[in-house]
This record gives sequence, structure tokens and C-alpha cells, in this order.
Amino acid sequence: MFRRKDTRAIRVGDVIIGGGAPVSVQSMAKVPTTDVRKVLEQCLLCHDAGCDIFRVSVPDEASAKALKEIVKESSLPIVADIHFDYRLALLSLEAGVHKLRINPGNIGSPERVKIVAKEAKARNVPIRIGVNAGSLPNDILQRYGHPTPEAMFEAAKREIFILRDIGFENIVISIKSSSPNETISANMFFAEKYDYPLHLGITEAGFGHQGIIASTVGLTRMLSLGIGDTVRVSLSDEPYMEVLVAREILRFAGLREYGVRIISCPKCARCEADTFAIVHEVWERTKHIKKTLTIAIMGCVVNGPGEAKEADFGVALGRRHALLFKKGKILAKIDENDVAQRLVECVLEFYQGKKTVK
Ligand code: SF4
Repeated sequence: MFRRKDTRAIRVGDVIIGGGAPVSVQSMAKVPTTDVRKVLEQCLLCHDAGCDIFRVSVPDEASAKALKEIVKESSLPIVADIHFDYRLALLSLEAGVHKLRINPGNIGSPERVKIVAKEAKARNVPIRIGVNAGSLPNDILQRYGHPTPEAMFEAAKREIFILRDIGFENIVISIKSSSPNETISANMFFAEKYDYPLHLGITEAGFGHQGIIASTVGLTRMLSLGIGDTVRVSLSDEPYMEVLVAREILRFAGLREYGVRIISCPKCARCEADTFAIVHEVWERTKHIKKTLTIAIMGCVVNGPGEAKEADFGVALGRRHALLFKKGKILAKIDENDVAQRLVECVLEFYQGKKTVK
């Protein structure tokens, strides 16, 4: 197991980023911030999927004003995402947000950054300096020619200098590009020089399989170097999907544990049952379980009994029948049409102490 880099602990509401705390998961609302009901719906879905911190964009004054109710009703700490107008950061602080995210490329003069930082300091609210390859300060971009890892690191350093100048140290940093390799290099530079906690992500990673793979490769490589205190997976998809992907990355990196994991048969000619439908039904009916457990759904006798035996619960399908396993022991021989129902009943009975029928 790799050693995680030591970083400072930064408090965001009731979540700690850095200082050896579990790597937290973040996502972001994808509806107008003024539509408070929809923002809170997305926040709740993210919470249920395993999210720890939720961010909202603040593009105008009406959005900043909506924050008050969002903060009050939210099940998660709220981060206000500010670009261009430092006054929106001040309004967001007034609304009670738990953290600010500002972008050094567009927030304006150092004086404006300092005004925001002074107010954040008075309220003990941390600031994430979010450096993005797509919006670096012009002079840095001209000097380096492209948004290279060195240029991104330079932008982060500059903003840290401004905040430190007024004694503000309640800082989280993110340095992101849509290229996993450039993001990794920039974060490695940063982690060698500073101990501020790092928010990791591959920005604008994309859609579906491409976005998931870009994020998985980038985040896993940084996490395996011991870098990273909080993560956000940026997908062209619903916020809760970002959370599901992030939590699986952390699970397989051995950094967090989250509810149910299904080990399942990819299917071949040996399998006569509709295992895909069984997998989907079992997942839908057990995904709310918070305790860590594995469920194996296997299509034949080749690897089926072995995997099912090793899992907490499992089925190994055969001809028209399946063997149902619990904690390594065969519980019953069941009809192939009853597999999903019996397996779910068995899991819920064990973890809830009662039988639940669909
Ligand atoms: Fe094929 Fe059996 Fe493997 Fe499923 S578990 S892919 S049916 S060999």
C-alpha cells in the first residue's frame, strides 16, 4: 500500500480535507442555482450516492442570493464556484457557504482576491484556488506558450502568494487539465513543494466511457503516488454519476469503502440465463445499502461456485437452477427464475433483519 502525502487539514462544514482524513468525493449542481428545488434534488441524489461536498456555480447576484436557502436545506457542505466577479464571492460568504472556489485566471486584481480572502478569514471559510488549463492568466500563458504543467503550477503559486501575503492559509488547491498526463505532472510539481491539500480531477473529462476512463487513469495514478485529498470526476452526465464513478475509483484504490460491490459474469456461450437482467435488478434493489459487501452473480459452474463462495452472497447459475451462497456456504438450490428475488431477499434479510418483497 502506498503512503499518502502529509497535508494540512482543512475543514469544509463537517468534512475534513487533508490531514490524513479519508479522501472525500465532490460533485456539482448542473441546473440554474436560482432553481433551489432542483439544486437540492441533485444534492440529495449525490448524498445518497456517497458524495461528501457539493458545489454550485454563482454566475450572478440572483444565484448568490439563492445560496442562503441551499445552504440551509442541503444535506452536504456547499461550495460556491466564483468566476470573474469577486463581489459574488462576498455575497456567497454572506449566504453562509462552507467553502469558496475561485479561479486565478479571471477573478481580477490581487487586491480583489485579498478583499475576498479577508472576509473568508473572518468567517473561517476555506478557499480553493482552482487552476484550469483553459483559463490561465494571460501573462503566464504568453510566457509558456501553452497551458503546460509548469504554467499551471506557476498560476497556483502566484495565487498562494497573494493569499499568504495577508496571512490566509485556509487553502485547498486544484490544478486541472483535460489531459490526464499534464494534470498528473502539474500536481506532482505542486505536491513536492507545498503541503496544502489537493483537490484532484481531470477537467472536462468527457462523456460515458471516455470520461470515465480519462478520470480513472488520471486519478488512480495520482492517488497511487499518495497525492490527493478530495476528488471530483467531471462527466457530461448527471452529478450522481460523477459520484458513483469517483467512489469506485477510491474503492479500487483501497482508499474508501462504499456499500455493495457486484462481481458478475460477463457472459459467454456457457451461460443460459439472463445474467445481465439479474445483475441490474440486484443492483437496483441493494444499491442503498451502506455496509460494505460483495455479491457475486455468476453464469456457470466454471468460476461460479468459487466466486460465489468468496463473496458475502452469491449465486452460481447452472442448467435451470442456481446455487445460492451466503458467507461461503450453500444455502439452497433455487430455480433460475427466482435468482434475483431470492438473492435480494437473502441480502436484505441479513442486513435489515427482515424480509423485503419487491
Ligand atoms: Fe462464461 Fe461462466 Fe465466465 Fe460467465 S462465469 S463468462 S458463463 S465461463
